[in-house]
Amino acid sequence: MLLKVDYSVIIPVYNEAEVLQSSYERLTEVLQKLKANYELLFVNDGSKDGTKAQLDQIEKQDTNVKVLHFSRNFGHQLAITAGVDYASGEVVIVIDADLQDPPELIPEMIQKWQEGYDVVYAKRLARKGESSFKKMSASLFYRLLDKISEIPIPVDTGDFRLMDKKVCEQLRLLGEKNPFVRGQVSWIGFRQTEITYIRDERLSGETKYPLKKMVKLSLDGITSFSYLPLKLANYLGSLTLGIGFLYFFILLIRWTFTDHQISGMNGIAILLLVLFGSCFLLLGIIGEYLARLFEDIKVRPRYIIDEANGFTSGARKKEKLS
Ligand code: UDP
Ligand code: MG
Repeated sequence: MLLKVDYSVIIPVYNEAEVLQSSYERLTEVLQKLKANYELLFVNDGSKDGTKAQLDQIEKQDTNVKVLHFSRNFGHQLAITAGVDYASGEVVIVIDADLQDPPELIPEMIQKWQEGYDVVYAKRLARKGESSFKKMSASLFYRLLDKISEIPIPVDTGDFRLMDKKVCEQLRLLGEKNPFVRGQVSWIGFRQTEITYIRDERLSGETKYPLKKMVKLSLDGITSFSYLPLKLANYLGSLTLGIGFLYFFILLIRWTFTDHQISGMNGIAILLLVLFGSCFLLLGIIGEYLARLFEDIKVRPRYIIDEANGFTSGARKKEKLS
């Protein structure tokens, strides 16, 4: 008989062998207290350390645990996406594996859900143990994105959130290849609210979000939810073209009405620099969008699951969704 799952907790995991046992224990402690059916759905995003073995061990001992192993590292956002695809709870909660998001906030989120909210996101009031570069760049990025996006996206909010089943059903339909999950959830709508918290230090190990992944995430966020960069290309293009014409007319007038000899070398150099500079910039911006369009045109699966363990007990077993 299939058991109805009340709460699904999705935990994306990449090389977290050091913290896995502690986060499993802390999550279990919190969820046991809720006296409801739950599943802990770990998505192993192609870890290369002992994460896989540890997860399989935990899954064998605990029927509430389900594990997806990706065939390689597909990235945090796709790990969350796979979790959402496979989750079967009435309510789905996404939380990091490194205990930076305290599991103890889950009951507070559920409380809000019981009050009738469909999405409860956790907003960071402060972040402990992170470099000032990370704090500053994140803060700037959230504010910029909120300003330029077509829809409001809450600032200082990561992926630690609760979502009602109906939100997840919509998320599954979106099918974007480079998903920016927090933006997608804002875009979906329904009744959304926030709770606030202080983000803890990572329990152990290093961040799995190096600069390269942070840049990819911000570009996904911006290109998925804002057309400003494309419009910027227009503004910049028009401006430089305008300057070019003006310059040409000034020279023409000087040449016609005065006997002023024009030394064009400096002017030409500046003009070339401005024009080439802006052309390259525009091409770069268009390239970002094109790359994403190209991704969407390709009918590749978004992620590949190597193994799905623990799905026979409890919740419905799903075949490959990717
Ligand atoms: N993560 C992932 N795939 C990746 C990078 C990270 O699944 O390619 C997971 C990671 O294990 C953690 C969460 O995403 O559970 C957030 O990553 P991390 O804590 O390293 O990011 P930070 O908190 O430093 O921004
Ligand atoms: Mg972290």
